[in-house]
Amino acid sequence: MIIDCHGHYTTAPPQLNAFRDGQIAALKGGASPSLAAISDDEIRASLEGAQLKFQRERGTDLTIFSPRASGMGHHIGDSAVSVAWTRACNDLIHRAVGLYPDNFVGVCQLPQSPGAPLEAVVAELERCVTQLGFIGCNLNPDPSGGHWTAPPLTDKFWYPVYEKMAELDVPAMVHVSASCNPAFHATGAHYINADTTAFMQFIQADLFKDFPSLRFIIPHGGGAVPYHWGRYRGLAQDMKRPPLTALLNNVFFDTCVYHQPGIDLLSEVIPVDNILFASEMVGAVRGIDPTTGFHYDDTKRYVEALPLSAADKQKIYEGNARRIFPRLDAQLKAKGK
Ligand SMILES: [Zn+2]
Repeated sequence: MIIDCHGHYTTAPPQLNAFRDGQIAALKGGASPSLAAISDDEIRASLEGAQLKFQRERGTDLTIFSPRASGMGHHIGDSAVSVAWTRACNDLIHRAVGLYPDNFVGVCQLPQSPGAPLEAVVAELERCVTQLGFIGCNLNPDPSGGHWTAPPLTDKFWYPVYEKMAELDVPAMVHVSASCNPAFHATGAHYINADTTAFMQFIQADLFKDFPSLRFIIPHGGGAVPYHWGRYRGLAQDMKRPPLTALLNNVFFDTCVYHQPGIDLLSEVIPVDNILFASEMVGAVRGIDPTTGFHYDDTKRYVEALPLSAADKQKIYEGNARRIFPRLDAQLKAKGK
């Protein structure tokens, strides 16, 4: 079985964005919008020509599916705006999963808001996991959208979310959203910065002593981390911190790296038990690489080309995801998979 641990509903029916546009307009005065009805057929049409088509063409089975990350926009409006938007996005994921339960499983957006306490975030995580069957969440380390006003992920500020994650036994993907700082291109700079920043934060503090079972997936191949593994090893050593291997019970990396040399490096540096297959298809990079003739985000081709045993590839494709998302494993076992 091939599980893609990183997919977003980037092709949602236009009613969703119209609702968001209405929210943004309401910030300047006017009534709060309501989400126009979306039919099951509209949801099917939005997926059949996109994520489902690529699943079939590329031979992947199941996508761990969350709302469009750049659309989370935690910096827009206040906590109440974020809650209404987040619930709409998560409910639509729930409907997509309901229509295609063998192709998708849900991961939730969280209603974060700069400076806001985390009660609403904890409540939405619990709703999504216990009522909608979701198996994890996307946690934004920078809800300001590129201005980095939140404390580091290791700060006690975040502990209410971690307590709920530990209680529910769900992991988080560390995932920022759009950048409202023109210095940072969203997917080209802000995303990769955040991946790298989160890892350095984990090096600097003892978060996993307080939460030994907490699990984070750092997407996009871990940003600059695998490439600069020697730098991080040396920094940890100079700072009298534990060796990086101490983080590997809690920190994992996906394969959203869009060329073969990058995947080769990832698999040489990061233990195979810490790599999860992912493509983030129909996401940041949608074109075809003229040097290969295949989509940049067709990451299965790169993983296939790795000089790993079938058993190791099975870990990357399936085993690690089932271990890190125990609720997914339970759902699959309940289906006899
Ligand atoms: Zn993503």
